[in-house]
This record gives sequence, C-alpha cells and structure tokens, in this order.
Amino acid sequence: MALLEIRDLKKYFSTPRGMLHAVDEVNLDIEEGTTLGVVGESGCGKSTLGRTVIRLLEPTSGTVMFDGKDITSVTKRQFHALSTQMQMIFQDPYASLDPRMSVAELIAEPIKVHKLTRNRAEISERVRDLMDTVGLARRLERSYPHELDGGRRQRIGIARALALNPKFIVCDEPVSALDVSIQAQILNLLQDLQQEKKLTYMFITHNLSVVRHISNEICVMYLGRVVEKCEAKELFVHPYHPYTKALLSAIPIPNIHIEQKPIPMTGELTSPINPPNACRFAPRCPYATEQCRSSEPALEEMTPGHVVLCHRAKELNDL
Ligand code: SF4
Repeated sequence: MALLEIRDLKKYFSTPRGMLHAVDEVNLDIEEGTTLGVVGESGCGKSTLGRTVIRLLEPTSGTVMFDGKDITSVTKRQFHALSTQMQMIFQDPYASLDPRMSVAELIAEPIKVHKLTRNRAEISERVRDLMDTVGLARRLERSYPHELDGGRRQRIGIARALALNPKFIVCDEPVSALDVSIQAQILNLLQDLQQEKKLTYMFITHNLSVVRHISNEICVMYLGRVVEKCEAKELFVHPYHPYTKALLSAIPIPNIHIEQKPIPMTGELTSPINPPNACRFAPRCPYATEQCRSSEPALEEMTPGHVVLCHRAKELNDL
C-alpha cells in the first residue's frame, strides 16, 4: 500500500522575470517501508519536491495523500499534529544544528517542541535511547556540534528526525557532505533503521551511485519534471531517457581496464522561468528533433512500472 501519493504537484516561485517552475506536475507513489530515490543535477527541483511533500513549502497546486489523508488541504494547525510522522534529514548537519546546543539538547529539542513529554527524566532516557539507536556514544551527550566530525553530526540529525517516531523521512542529500568511508556507515545506518522501524524514505541525491543500493524505485528529475521512473535495478540495466543515460555514463567505473565514456551534455540549460512548450532537455539532447523543440512530451509507460518523458524513447531504445 502506498504511504504517500503525490498527484499533479506543482511548486512555482514568483520572480521578477516570471514564474519559476521548480516542481511541475509531479506524480509519485511511495510504498510503505520502501525507499524512493530522487536523482538529478543541482537545480532540478528535487529538494523543493522533498520540502513541498512535507509542507515545509506550501504547494502551488496538487495533492499529497499521506497514510490516506490529504495533507495539502488540512490547516497548518491540523498539519502540526501530522507533521511528527513526516521528518527530514538535511544535507549539511552542521548548518542545521544550533551550535550553542549540546548533543543531548539538540536531540531533546523536537521532543520538547512537540510536547511528547515534559518529564525531564523521560526526556533524558529517550535522548539516550536515540543516541544508542544511531550509534552515538553516551559520553558525547554534553559535546557541541563543532567538537564532532561530520558523520557524528549527521547521526545527531538522524536522531532528531527519529525523535518523534516518524513513518516517513525525506533524506535530502544526507551523505553528500561526508567522506566516502563515512557515507557508507550512514547509508548502512539508514537501511538498518528502515528495516527495524519500517520507515519509508524519499532519498534525494545528485549521485546515482549513492541511491543504487538503498532505493526500491528511482525517479530522475530534470528542471522540475520527472523524466524517468522505475525500479532501481531496472534503471541501471535499461535506462531509456537520454538524460538518465548521460547521468549513468558519468558514474566512475572502478576498473582501470574499462574505458570510461561519459556522454557529454553540452548546450544551454532551458530556463525554469516560464519554460517553453518543448522538451526541457532539448537544448542538451543529441537526439533532439523539431518535435522535441515544439511540444512537450508526456510520460509514457515503456514496460510495467517504467515511465519515461521523451518523444523518442521507444525509437532510441531500438537503435
Ligand atoms: Fe531528447 Fe527529444 Fe527525448 Fe527530449 S524528447 S529527451 S529532446 S529525444
């Protein structure tokens, strides 16, 4: 069953030059206990999507059904009660943590804000439990964020997200600021927590190789649009969209005997402000035709569950 159903979701921002289409007509389902990887370059709208889904940003239009409830139509007050079930882990743990608060204070903060308990002993016990859960040594309770490395700071961010017993977590580039060895530890922790607590994740990243093992499904975004979505394994063996293929070709191959051949993406980026009625990838696509420059493609199902936004997807697949 889908825990999250996103329908025709749009998030536009008004700018002096016109409307910036950050998220445009996005339709996605995320099954309970699974991970949807959301991938794309910086500026593709993936972080805006994550923030809009949990109403850190108000959507321009569209709906988000969470556990059967339309959270886009409830008042802010009603949403406050629901918001404990939807949390976020941020990219830069240092920037998202108040440097004046100790580890224990940081983890206790959401418990106090949402008034889960006012009992100080219960709060301390809950903080220690959470520290154990995310692998933070109890002796660090009184440490401050600047005294810790990036991995431990991200563990604080994860403990804060878990403090309210959420069902759904948006992980917004949670490992991209970390060293590679620590990235693996944090990814393993997130996977263990998912199994243990049946968590559902939206995992946002610019790096396809990061989501390869953690995602059940992956959606690729380009300038506000979902251009391809399918099961994670399928995306790596049978990509259709030229943009997905270019992203995959840029993943480093750990074998010196295999020559890396990244597909170049030249050409200007389409402006996300008042985008034209055309494929937004057309200026950078080596396969663009007149049709691509004069009409926007619609998402089409290539095989069951595998959708692609490209006029020429079938034809290019047969080449
Ligand atoms: Fe390229 Fe045309 Fe497909 Fe867009 S619709 S990705 S321009 S082939």
